[in-house]
Amino acid sequence: MTKLEIKDLHVSVANPDVNADPIQILKGVDLTIESGQTHAIMGPNGSGKSTLSYAIAGHPKYQVISGSITLDGENVLEMSVDERARAGLFLAMQYPVEVSGVSMSNFLRTAATAVRGEAPKLRHWVKEVKTSMNELEISPEFAERSVNEGFSGGEKKRHEILQLGLLKPKIAILDETDSGLDVDALRVVSEGVNRYKERENGGLLLITHYTRILRYIEPDFVHVFINGRIEESGGKELAEELDANGYDRFTASKSPAG
Ligand code: ADP
Ligand code: MG
Ligand code: MG
Repeated sequence: MTKLEIKDLHVSVANPDVNADPIQILKGVDLTIESGQTHAIMGPNGSGKSTLSYAIAGHPKYQVISGSITLDGENVLEMSVDERARAGLFLAMQYPVEVSGVSMSNFLRTAATAVRGEAPKLRHWVKEVKTSMNELEISPEFAERSVNEGFSGGEKKRHEILQLGLLKPKIAILDETDSGLDVDALRVVSEGVNRYKERENGGLLLITHYTRILRYIEPDFVHVFINGRIEESGGKELAEELDANGYDRFTASKSPAG
């Protein structure tokens, strides 16, 4: 059993105006994710959802001002990005980076070697990658293409779920993995996520803007994220309410008076 615990997390990002103070984005986030649980975070654009995922992953631009993140009691904030991955954290980014000149198969093997602490046995590995690509309906020639270079939105997302299946993290954070996917891609990606959950009993944090993906991946908990913090938590019925009524009930009280 694994537990990721986030307590009263405050995070700032450097101000583009170097003479000005950093901009505070997260304003006290509390969230606990355990093995086998699926948490959905839903919130309007600009509310800080990606900032939360970057802070957990250790992106250098995002500075933790106060609060804590622990994985089974270990201080995640003291770990490097690599150490976080080795400890079992995985982040699929909203905007995956392109890595020119590095083939997808090399990238995956390097990542798996780093996370597992030893190179996977070649014959077994080749089979594993082939099976996983097949499951995600990724055609074999993708293995030799540069990472994400010229990939469509849907291809990038499938590639991320391929990583998820091969790296087998304890806790996975998927940031808007559903954005821009057509119905077929959404189904394939969701099935990949559900396979990961079944096989690894992983904990999942699903950041999303739309309730659509939650019809394929059933959340145990839904959190409404407004203005840098979790405003309300509930079960999947909360997602249904958001689908019907939007975020008005949550944002109305935050608008400036007048
Ligand atoms: P969401 O994912 O909910 O749409 P983000 O975490 O991407 O929200 O952004 C929250 C706020 O923080 C936005 O106002 C955004 O412009 C700002 N922000 C995020 N990252 C940076 C950055 N690197 N530099 C400046 N502002 C940023
Ligand atoms: Mg956004
Ligand atoms: Mg975002």
